[in-house]
This record gives sequence, structure tokens and C-alpha cells, in this order.
Amino acid sequence: MHRDEGYIKFSYAHEAAPAPAHPWLHDLMRIRDDLHEWELIGVLPDGIGYGNISARIAGTGRFIITGSGTGLEFPIGNHHFCEVVSFDIDKNSVVCRGPLPASSESMSHGAVYAARTDTRVVIHIHDRLMFRLLMREGAPQTPAEASFGTPEMARAVGRLAATLPPVAVMVMAGHEDGLIAYGPDPQSARDALWDVYARSRRD
Ligand SMILES: [Zn+2]
Repeated sequence: MHRDEGYIKFSYAHEAAPAPAHPWLHDLMRIRDDLHEWELIGVLPDGIGYGNISARIAGTGRFIITGSGTGLEFPIGNHHFCEVVSFDIDKNSVVCRGPLPASSESMSHGAVYAARTDTRVVIHIHDRLMFRLLMREGAPQTPAEASFGTPEMARAVGRLAATLPPVAVMVMAGHEDGLIAYGPDPQSARDALWDVYARSRRD
């Protein structure tokens, strides 16, 4: 891994299209709004949105994901989703279609789908207490050198996901407060996050 890779800026090719359809879209919207209420998906004080939820399009490497800049939206609507048609980790680029483009964080989602055929839902959130709890517990984590929005981070996420169980939560050590949860369906990924959330608020 070379540090220079961090300078390959994220880019996308976006085709304007209607909101994507998906059998789990309603579940994703409900879970996303819960996460928004818990402030695990939202907008940082500087106005940058964080967190997103995605689901694989069955039998493909494609997935739908909440679009770029939707952190403030509540409630979320189907028009806030887009489809990632393909992605290239080395080039840090995605091809996407829908009402909105995909964010740079879609690369890490794609890396999990590519690493695990059984993964059908990926959730990325930010939370300081959950992040600190998992770091203290020595939870699975990507290397601190892999920083946000880089090919190195996406590769690290994929490599780590390949070694973990079908449902897991991992820490993005080089992406402040960033966690990723995934599972074979929306509820399992959501419940894995909820478990960490509840424990992080217990003390
Ligand atoms: Zn993030």
C-alpha cells in the first residue's frame, strides 16, 4: 500500500434516472430513518453528511445506496437512493444511476459485496461512543493508515470482511468514528449495530 493512493480522488459517472426499485427498499428506508434518529447517519457541524445504507441487487455485484448529500433528509424517500452499476477500487470511481449520484463512501460498500457473496446489506455509520467502545474491545478493524475515501480503505474493508462471520461490525480505524455493519438481510445488519449502540450507551 502506498500513501500516494490516498490522493486518487473519488470520481463518478452518473446517469440521471428514476429512483431505483428493490424488494428491500422499504426496509432500508425504515432502518435508515431509525439510524438518523439515533444520529448515526446525519450531518456533521461543517455540513458534510455521513453514513449510508445499501443493499445488493440479488445475484449481481450491483447495489442500491442512499445518495450523496442525503444526511440531512428526514424522512428518507426512494428518490434519495441510487444504483451503483459498477465500481473500480483502484481508480476510486463508480458508475451510478438514479436521481442522485453515489458518495465516495459507496466504495467501501462495494468492497464488502465483492469480498462476500453472502452479504446483501451494508450500513456505514459514524458514532464516537460506538467507535471508542469497539476500539477498546479490540473489535475487527481496518489499519489506522487506511484513511477515508481512499482505495486503501476500500481494499482494507474488503480484506477484513472476507475474514469475518456473515454478520459483523467492523471499525474503520483511519476514518474517525466510522463503523461498517453488514449481513445477509437488512434486519441482521441493523441488529448488529443496535447491539453496539445499546452497549455504548450503557456506561
Ligand atoms: Zn464515513
